[in-house]
Amino acid sequence: MANVRLEDIKRRFNNVTAIEDISFEIPDGEFWVLVGPSGCGKSTILRTIAGLETATSGKLFIGDRLMNNIPARQRDVAMVFQNYALYPHMTVAENIAFGMQMRKVDRKVIQDRVLNVARSLSLEHLLDRKPKQLSGGQQQRVALGRAIARQPQVFLLDEPLSNLDAQLRDDTRAELKQLHQNVGITTVYVTHDQVEAMTLADQIVVLNRGRIQQIGDPQSIYANP
Ligand code: ADP
Ligand code: ADP
Repeated sequence: MANVRLEDIKRRFNNVTAIEDISFEIPDGEFWVLVGPSGCGKSTILRTIAGLETATSGKLFIGDRLMNNIPARQRDVAMVFQNYALYPHMTVAENIAFGMQMRKVDRKVIQDRVLNVARSLSLEHLLDRKPKQLSGGQQQRVALGRAIARQPQVFLLDEPLSNLDAQLRDDTRAELKQLHQNVGITTVYVTHDQVEAMTLADQIVVLNRGRIQQIGDPQSIYANP
């Protein structure tokens, strides 16, 4: 079980409060999207879940475990950023396998998972290529695959499509939705793109000036008043 629960999380930088009163619970396997204007605290929440920021106060649970004092590398969490960083000297297959090799997963299991993930992301014909032989969209799909292949409990994405052109963004968004339907990992996704929020989210958290303004499903958030 990997529900993610934030209880009254606050993060202050010197005398600036980046986020406060942040409480929500994501049930195991759901896809939640954080939206709101630049500077409203989306990345700070994501980085707190990843362990890249420390909450000034409040509690973070993954499953039943209190995570506040658990360092990032000991959290079973994978994060994908806007600027994907693949290993240039490795093939697509080696990039996807990398996190599992680090964790000494059985070779046969690694092979199966690389193939499954590549299929979910339409990368199976590219497994022997190097990153520089791929388009930007293909590279970002490899970054998604690499993160998901080791089957983390929680998947965090910070505007992963915003560097792609419109067509690639549409395609990759669809792949991402398919991927989530296949693997069902608890996911927190940051964007300011309404289409992404509408098509991907089970629930949307609307933030403003470091606080939660509203939480609801896409219909209730974007319904006409
Ligand atoms: P968003 O991701 O929604 O654009 P952020 O979480 O990056 O927002 O930032 C929220 C607020 O916290 C902003 O006012 C930002 O300037 C501030 N902030 C974020 N990180 C730091 C930091 N390391 N030091 C000081 N202020 C920060
Ligand atoms: P975003 O694209 O999420 O708005 P930014 O470009 O604002 O992010 O911030 C990029 C990085 O700089 C983040 O790691 C954030 O924590 C940090 N940062 C943001 N605001 C500040 C600030 N006022 N002082 C120091 N670091 C900051």
